[in-house]
Amino acid sequence: MVGQALQGQVALVTGAATGIGRATALALATEGARVWINHCEQQDLAEQLVAEIIAHGGDACAVEADVSDPAAVAAMFETILGAGPLDMLVNNAGVILEKPFLATDEADWARVLGVDLSAVYRCCRHALAHMQPRRSGAIVNVTSDLGFLGREHYAAYCTAKAGVIGLTRSLAREFAADGIRVNGVAPGPIATAMVSPEHMSEQWMAKELAIPMARLGTPEEVAAAIVFLLSPRASYFTGQMLGPNGGSWMGA
Ligand code: NAD
Repeated sequence: MVGQALQGQVALVTGAATGIGRATALALATEGARVWINHCEQQDLAEQLVAEIIAHGGDACAVEADVSDPAAVAAMFETILGAGPLDMLVNNAGVILEKPFLATDEADWARVLGVDLSAVYRCCRHALAHMQPRRSGAIVNVTSDLGFLGREHYAAYCTAKAGVIGLTRSLAREFAADGIRVNGVAPGPIATAMVSPEHMSEQWMAKELAIPMARLGTPEEVAAAIVFLLSPRASYFTGQMLGPNGGSWMGA
C-alpha cells in the first residue's frame, strides 16, 4: 500500500538493486515517492525491483551508472533531471575490503575510496547544484559505525566512511540556509550480501556480533532510519548520524 508522507517527491538511491539500497527504495516508494533505482551492471535485479514497486502501486525507474565514474554519474543525472526535479538523494552504493593495511595497495585504496567516498562527493555535487536554486532537498549518506570506530584490516573502508561523515556535516552547514538537509546513517552489522558468513572472516563476524543486541540488523531497519531522515518528520534534523547498529557505538 502506498502512503502519503513523500507523495509527489522524487528520490535517487544509488546501489539500489540489493541490500540496504533495495529496502530503502521499497520503503520510499511505500511512502509515495517516485524512485530512481541506480545500479551497476545489475539490470535484472533493478528491473525486478521496479516491477515489484509498480505492482504495489508505486512508481520507479532503473538507471545504470558506475558511481565511481564521473562521466557515468553526469549522464545519470542528465537522464534523471531531464525527466523532472529531484527532491531526495540516498548515497548508498558501497564496497568493502578486508585486507591487512600493508597489503592494501594503491589500486585497492583507489577502488574503495572511489566508490565509498568520491562517488558520494560527486553525486552530492550534481544533486546540490540542482537543489540549491530550488531551495529544497534532502540527502542521506550511508556511512558505517566503522567510520567512527575504525577496524583492523579495514583501513580503506573505515577511512572512506569517516570521510563521508565529514562531508555530510560540512554540506549540512553549507546548505542549511538553502533549505537543504544533509544527514547520514551509520549502520552496524546488517544482514546483506556485503556482510555474510561466506564473505567475511569468522574473526570479523565474531567481532561484529559482540554488541549489546548480539544480532545482525536487517536492511529494513536501516531503510526506516533513512526514510525518516528524508521525510518532513525530520524537518529539524541536519548534520546528524543516526545509528541503526544494535548498540555498537557503546561497545559490547
Ligand atoms: P550490498 O553489497 O547489498 O549493497 C551495495 C550496493 O552497491 C550493491 O548493489 C552494489 O552493486 C552497489 N555498488 C557497488 N559499487 C557500485 C558502483 N561503483 N556503482 C553503483 N553501484 C555500486 O551491501 P549493503 O550492506 O546493502 O551496503 C549498502 C551500504 O551500506 C554500503 O555503503 C555499505 O558500506 C553500507 N553499510 C553496510 C553495512 C552492513 O553491515 N551490511 C554496515 C554499515 C554500512
